[in-house]
Amino acid sequence: MLTLLKLLKDGRFHSGQALGAALGVSRSAVWKQLQLLEAELGLSVHKVRGRGYQLASPLTLLDSAEIAEQAPSCDWPVLVFDSIDSTNAEALRTIERGKVAPFLVLAERQTSGRGRRGRKWASPFAENVYYSLVLRIEGGMRQLEGLSLVVGLAVMQTLRELGISDVGLKWPNDVLVGQKKIAGILLELVGDPADVCHVVLGVGINVNMQLTSEIDQEWTSMRLESGRAFDRNHLVAKLGGVLQVYLGRHQTDGFPAIQSEWEQNHLWQGRAVSLIAGVNQIDGEVLGIDSQGALRLRVDGVEKVFSGGELSLRLRDDS
Ligand code: ATP
Repeated sequence: MLTLLKLLKDGRFHSGQALGAALGVSRSAVWKQLQLLEAELGLSVHKVRGRGYQLASPLTLLDSAEIAEQAPSCDWPVLVFDSIDSTNAEALRTIERGKVAPFLVLAERQTSGRGRRGRKWASPFAENVYYSLVLRIEGGMRQLEGLSLVVGLAVMQTLRELGISDVGLKWPNDVLVGQKKIAGILLELVGDPADVCHVVLGVGINVNMQLTSEIDQEWTSMRLESGRAFDRNHLVAKLGGVLQVYLGRHQTDGFPAIQSEWEQNHLWQGRAVSLIAGVNQIDGEVLGIDSQGALRLRVDGVEKVFSGGELSLRLRDDS
């Protein structure tokens, strides 16, 4: 099915006969594959008698050679999948198989894209970026401190450089435009953080997605914000370059050197929020973050510090 898609991606008309000849199948087999394309990948194909088949809009697919050419400083191998359960899951399996880090896993779609605590990340085909960069970290808890916040900052900066100027951060690791989520970050760790471990920097960015019924909160995409489509290969290359700069700063100077830049971009700085931890709720005012990336809240007049992957922030109605 994806070989057929690659033949059609130029957005031109192709006759059933030519497609069948290229694929080595009959015209009726081509017809069946086209129906699968529409049903499974949500793509729409124009069928015109006498001319053949045409994708309703041309597609640019992910291309590791193009990414490498546009980001010569990122010397990590890029593994591109047409479809995968989750790029983070594949990254973890690849570490298990012994592949040497750093390496990057990308996919055109995820069938079980994940957010925190097993929540689902909507991942339609060829519209967005699903990105998992694997790093090997040796003997340094310090190198993990605030790391997911640093990745958020790098994603935000990349989007700004591509013209999405209103983008900002929400603790711990969402990237928003106003109240709408445009990107999410999920770090996963394997190994011993005090010795040698691997960390998967998982990033989902809504790029060209314009419609979905799969997301139960406010969201947006680069295309919805700017009114234009983006080349995902260019975005991936750009993100790699920006991440390298931020990860380099983090490694050399530690998170404290990045803390104030993060706070300056925190959209909820000074706001009245509720911090949700399972069934518990703590109301307070956002003071900022500490030198390890933990959230500082004023609760009943006293500063308190919170950290951990199970915490969610919500704006209070009176904020
Ligand atoms: P928190 O507010 O606790 O940080 P969250 O709601 O942002 O949590 P995450 O685990 O970061 O949760 O992301 C998963 C959630 O994001 C989903 O439950 C869904 O509401 C939303 N979501 C899923 N797919 C997308 C997407 N492609 N773009 C934006 N939001 C999405």
